[in-house]
Amino acid sequence: MKYVSTRGSAPALDFEGVTLAGLASDGGLYVPEEWPRFSEAEIAAMRGLPYAELAVRVMLPFVEGSLTEDELRGLCQRAYGRFAHAAVTPLTQFDQQHHLLELFHGPTLAFKDVALQLLGRLFETFLARREDHLTIVGATSGDTGSAAIDAVAGRAGVDIFMLHPAGRISDVQRRQMTTVKAPNVYNIALEGSFDDAQAMVKRMFSDGAMNGRFHIAAVNSINWARLMAQVVYYFAAALQLGGPDRKVAFSVPTGNFGDVFAGYVAAQMGLPIERLIVATNVNDILHRAISSGDYSAGTVEPTAAPSMDIQVSSNFERLLFCEGGRDGPALAAQMQGFDAARAMQLTNAQREGAAALFTSARADAAAMNESMRWASEACGEIIDPHTAIGLHAARASGLAADIPVVTLATAHPAKFRDAVERATGQRPALPTRVGDLFEREERYDTLPGDYDAVAAYVAERATAVS
Ligand SMILES: *Cc1c(COP(=O)(O)O)cnc(C)c1O
Repeated sequence: MKYVSTRGSAPALDFEGVTLAGLASDGGLYVPEEWPRFSEAEIAAMRGLPYAELAVRVMLPFVEGSLTEDELRGLCQRAYGRFAHAAVTPLTQFDQQHHLLELFHGPTLAFKDVALQLLGRLFETFLARREDHLTIVGATSGDTGSAAIDAVAGRAGVDIFMLHPAGRISDVQRRQMTTVKAPNVYNIALEGSFDDAQAMVKRMFSDGAMNGRFHIAAVNSINWARLMAQVVYYFAAALQLGGPDRKVAFSVPTGNFGDVFAGYVAAQMGLPIERLIVATNVNDILHRAISSGDYSAGTVEPTAAPSMDIQVSSNFERLLFCEGGRDGPALAAQMQGFDAARAMQLTNAQREGAAALFTSARADAAAMNESMRWASEACGEIIDPHTAIGLHAARASGLAADIPVVTLATAHPAKFRDAVERATGQRPALPTRVGDLFEREERYDTLPGDYDAVAAYVAERATAVS
């Protein structure tokens, strides 16, 4: 399988190449040259498979040329063996129409584990082959940092430096990062905001001196391997609810458009999907883009669903490419226009292409809280604020009653227990597997919001490649 850049001028790479590259060298994102497609009979034959085996079937076409089927199977068994639920991503029911896909049974209680547990093992495999060493540098406002640290802690060939804004993330989120003891994990509490931390990371990626000495890499959701791993649970849920003989809809709490783009990929691969509902909070650039073609960034407004507090959705570029005739140079020009003006209009082809599969909805704080209360009072289910936004959009979608609608539960409610308690009066307990989080010792360094200090800190501790 070959991958091409959405901006048309970076070299095509194989799966191993795109996994280690992250962003393409022309600033674009990698997508498969063409979508592999399953017949209905092939999809029907996937019913009843254990999750790790389903993952092998769905992902094998994408890794062809870089991993054998047995290598992929070994990686999937180890990655998904770490989940606390035997079904890995179990489905539960709200009412006759609405279902919940629980994606939070991984080690750090958010859906990002599903992809990052695999990505950490892919890095280790490919780096050993190349005798290379990666220095992962990231900024986190919460969930990505802990999932990435857990995924690479103790792995050969990788160091990870994770910056979080000092004092601005929850205790649970901080402790999930700072209590990891592995010697290749470095936590930095940066004096400043999340945007300051992100700006440091961006500057390091374009710092010639740092890039000359270290192989600096990212783990954010622009990495194709992460999206690929997320395609699997769309198949898992649809097969449980009667697919491929019956169409299923999905409602996806969305920030960077990674998770819901994985649903689009599943549809391109032949999975019958009735609708993909893009659910946003008041940071609603994607809702505006899907509903009216207006892709213009405002300023981020903090909400109780912080992992969706995003104004620019990196992965949306992949959809614009696929629905815009796969025209790299035209998209490169369109994105340059967006970077300059922080605003753009979708083309007619992009709008119509998106409208064929996607709808969208926006939930403010009142709608989010009402959704948490309904789940609790009508169904006895405690859901987190992100999931609540997805459920709100699902219930407002107006889909025919015979279409099952699956809301993706992207975080465990205990991860956001203050917001859950405010809405429902119930305080969710941390699962026993992380129950001693508050007894473990923390380890992190606090640095001033000064680029030179951060670069010196990394340079002293990272492994040079040249
Ligand atoms: C990251 C995250 C999201 C948003 O996912 P995207 O792939 O960025 O759209 C939603 N909910 C939670 C809990 C998350 O951690």
